[in-house]
Amino acid sequence: MVSHDVLVVGGGLAGLRAAVECAFLGVDVAVVSKVHPVRSHSGAAQGGVNAPLGNHPDGKNDSPELHAYDTIKGSDFLADQDAAEIMTGEAAQRIYEMEHWGCPFSRTEEGKIAQRPFGGGGFPRTCYGADRTGHYLLQTLFEQATRLRIKVYCELMVSRLVQRGDVVSGIIATDLKTGEIAALGAKAVIFATGGSGRIYSNSTNALISTGLGVAIPYWAGVPVKDMEFVQFHPTSLYGTNILVTEGARGEGGFLLNNKGERFMKNYVSERVMELAPRDIVSRSIQTEVNEGRGFENAYVHLDLRHLGRQKIEEKLPGIRDLCMDFAGVDPIKSPIPVQPGMHYTMGGTDTNVDGETELKGFFAAGECACVSAHGANRLGGNSLLETLVFGARSGKKASEYVGMNQHPNDKDSLQDALSAEEDRIELLKKRNGKENPYEIKNRLAVTMKDKFGIFRNQKEMVEGRDEIKRLLQALEKTRAISRTRVFNYDYVWMRELEGNLDIALLIAEGAIKRTESRGSHSRTDHKTRNDAEWLKHTVARHSPDGPAFSYKNVTITRFKPEERKY
Ligand SMILES: Cc1cc2nc3c(=O)[nH]c(=O)nc-3n(C[C@H](O)[C@H](O)[C@H](O)COP(=O)(O)OP(=O)(O)OC[C@H]3O[C@@H](n4cnc5c(N)ncnc54)[C@H](O)[C@@H]3O)c2cc1C
Repeated sequence: MVSHDVLVVGGGLAGLRAAVECAFLGVDVAVVSKVHPVRSHSGAAQGGVNAPLGNHPDGKNDSPELHAYDTIKGSDFLADQDAAEIMTGEAAQRIYEMEHWGCPFSRTEEGKIAQRPFGGGGFPRTCYGADRTGHYLLQTLFEQATRLRIKVYCELMVSRLVQRGDVVSGIIATDLKTGEIAALGAKAVIFATGGSGRIYSNSTNALISTGLGVAIPYWAGVPVKDMEFVQFHPTSLYGTNILVTEGARGEGGFLLNNKGERFMKNYVSERVMELAPRDIVSRSIQTEVNEGRGFENAYVHLDLRHLGRQKIEEKLPGIRDLCMDFAGVDPIKSPIPVQPGMHYTMGGTDTNVDGETELKGFFAAGECACVSAHGANRLGGNSLLETLVFGARSGKKASEYVGMNQHPNDKDSLQDALSAEEDRIELLKKRNGKENPYEIKNRLAVTMKDKFGIFRNQKEMVEGRDEIKRLLQALEKTRAISRTRVFNYDYVWMRELEGNLDIALLIAEGAIKRTESRGSHSRTDHKTRNDAEWLKHTVARHSPDGPAFSYKNVTITRFKPEERKY
């Protein structure tokens, strides 16, 4: 039976950064990932990563405090302020480290890391590498992981945590290449499994971003926080929802309705316009469409033509390719048809600022975790930063935990969990119901889009919640899954669907209960923020009867909640 001191599940930015930190500290660490690390969804990030470096002429007065304030205001004051302050305080160190490891950031004339404006940021503080920032960061970190000889188990899908009492002792994973199931022992486990975007049909996320990585610890008793906060990115390509980075607006792109108006002036101050935070821009676009000022009742235009060929080719080359390949539009010559698309899950496994959870030895970092630095709405560029800062911190804390505690080899629990998982798979293979899991998956994704979108209300959310419950019942009556051993994606999608449905239920129940509008959670039947009752995090625990909800206070340090105006 394989075992390591620390097992990191996920080979994206958060997972690799955590693993690199463990290796620096001399701890035996391995990464387990269902795809090769450089195919992780972090590689799709386009626009950039925030840090108050002050390299832009308009950003000279920037500081970690101002970055923290913008983050907290952007979060609609639901972010834990200690988490936001740590993230912004450690930002510069993490970016310079990536620079020294060779990340090819775009440069200013003087050779400093270039920075561009992003929504809700008071200054141009988003560091970027053209429009391929995530790709560059991911390759750079993977090189470090390779240099440090970190063991990577590729194409292994984790489906269960192993624990003895309240202490984690490993994971159960299926080797997708061979179909073999194995128990892997560990003194500490860090989950960095990314976002749950594919619960929605209209998502900018790749198909690999599912709810399973949040569901596994939830099933093991670890609480999940603030799942009702789901971010819609204002500009995804009409129809496919492939992302058009906020960097396009950061470089000066305009949003236009069917009358040719820059409609953002009707929603925010002329100083901010298209660079308002994402929740506000998404609502503004959707309002234009709903009130008949969109195109084909579905989209508006993002116009980059005035930026000129040279700037588009230099700063947004990937966006130009995506627009030409997937929308048949060359942004040098024509405006881009865009609509909001589900983009990011602010909620996730409840952790403290060191990635620790309630389960001893179990940590989480990156998009699957909720620290919470983003509260009810994340600012663009802060997610890549979160992966680096909290990835490193969870790696450090897990290494300390391993060094400080006795860890008896827990072969019995590993063997029991392995047998339970084998039984579970046999059951899935033998089922003889009539329900088709792919149909359930599609019905779920459309329900989430229709009932838990940009604007929400009680009636529709209850309808959506009831449909999720019907789908959970249907899941028990599915047909048998394929018995193939090699790359059995029938099995993969079935397991992911189990996770998706339980996480969707948390989004639904949490959203129905939260009778206010805050950040990305915008209710037409409760239009205002209600700090007196709702300045608190939603915490959900798994129980045989469904999720059990409680609430906990938001950590306030130096920024008093105030009305959010732009
Ligand atoms: C199109 C797009 C553009 C974006 N652009 C930006 C941007 O410009 N700036 C910004 O700040 N943010 C951006 N974001 C958000 C940001 O990219 C993500 O939040 C961040 O990269 C998530 O990193 P992660 O390490 O948490 O997860 P990921 O990079 O998604 O990695 C998850 C890892 O977990 C593994 N995994 C998952 N489940 C399992 C399992 N059960 N078993 C084994 N392995 C598993 C996967 O294989 C993968 O390696 C963007 C997001 C999208 C979708």
